[in-house]
Amino acid sequence: MAFDVEKIRQDFPILHQTINNHPLVYLDNAATTQKPIQVIEAVAGFYKKKNANIHRGVHYLSNLSTDLYEQARRSVQHFINARHDYEIIFTRGTTESINLVAFTFAEAFISQGDEIIITEMDHHANIVPWQQIALSKGAKLKIVPITDDYQLDFDTYTRLFTEKTKIVALPHISNSLGTINPIKKFIDFAHKHDVPVLIDAAQSVQHEKIDVQDLDCEFLAFSGHKIYAETGIGVLYGKEEWLDKLPPYQFGGDMIENVTFEKTTFQKLPLKFEAGTTNYVGAISLKAAIDYLTGIGLEEIEKYEKSLLNYAIDQISQIDGITVYATREDNKTSVLSFNIHGAHNYDVGMILDQMGIAVRTGKHCTHPLMQRLKIPGTVRASFALYNTTDEIDRFIKAVKKAKQMLI
Ligand code: PLP
Repeated sequence: MAFDVEKIRQDFPILHQTINNHPLVYLDNAATTQKPIQVIEAVAGFYKKKNANIHRGVHYLSNLSTDLYEQARRSVQHFINARHDYEIIFTRGTTESINLVAFTFAEAFISQGDEIIITEMDHHANIVPWQQIALSKGAKLKIVPITDDYQLDFDTYTRLFTEKTKIVALPHISNSLGTINPIKKFIDFAHKHDVPVLIDAAQSVQHEKIDVQDLDCEFLAFSGHKIYAETGIGVLYGKEEWLDKLPPYQFGGDMIENVTFEKTTFQKLPLKFEAGTTNYVGAISLKAAIDYLTGIGLEEIEKYEKSLLNYAIDQISQIDGITVYATREDNKTSVLSFNIHGAHNYDVGMILDQMGIAVRTGKHCTHPLMQRLKIPGTVRASFALYNTTDEIDRFIKAVKKAKQMLI
């Protein structure tokens, strides 16, 4: 089926409005995506006719709700090609998924003097949990640097390993640069040292097909709200053997098997990691979002979004006095980070907003990366499947105007 962006746009009610007297151009998709009517209706329809708490009732609605929740789990399983549905843990989002792994992994496997490898382009969500673990356990963080063309430095990575290395955690796609990291190569190398790998896929599942069996990563995390589903739902994928080895993260509710005042026993996977009442409606919205994306086709989406990015880079490169924080187009996706020389990113963002264009400005939760680049931040335009070249033209016009006003 040909990719029909105008038809897709009809599915997103929020896009059809004016902001500051201009038609909205929403280019803040790396922060969160808008929701198609199919997701909105799945949630509204659930609350109108199907809602009851899961896993606890004998009554009809509770069973229905439980079935839909478990269907959502299988839908995620197939979406990322996990071997088993119980390798899919529902969380609040990428941040919680990474915290879950960091704290339980540390409890089981990290002691004084051990080493954890992360990267210079990580989001704070994949820095700070490991940093806190390192502080509390007396372990050491080792950082994969970036090269001057905004790639991870693989050679240095290979030299960071010692017999003390316990885990590697790295992003698939950088939220600040759009760099697509060759994670399979990184995972294969870590496995040569018997070191497990966690992939932060917050910026990748919505843009390209993920196959966790092919990648062979031990853990992978992503957020529903960045993939057209609701906020407050996310996924942790883990290989069965690793999830089995980790202790529970939180206690109570659905993760309990039996309690006495002397002793509590816990459920098996996946419920072992799903304490309390989970965001089961969020999970149902995630299934609706996955159905929507697979209906269009991830490959089609990837191709279209890359063409949008290349178009935007071509256009912006024609304006003098702009630095784009990316050099190689072949392994970048959906993020265009830039600065106008002599202008603060925040001022550029404000002017764009006056023209109805939503971009993000600042450090994008990647302070160490901004320190490495020696800049206070960037203006970040990030694209989704509903953006158009016409919108990019309007964005470029607005950037030129901002440059005129500020310089
Ligand atoms: N990792 C990356 C690469 C991100 O871009 C983000 C969010 O921007 C996160 C982690 C955190 O995601 P969330 O806030 O949904 O937990």
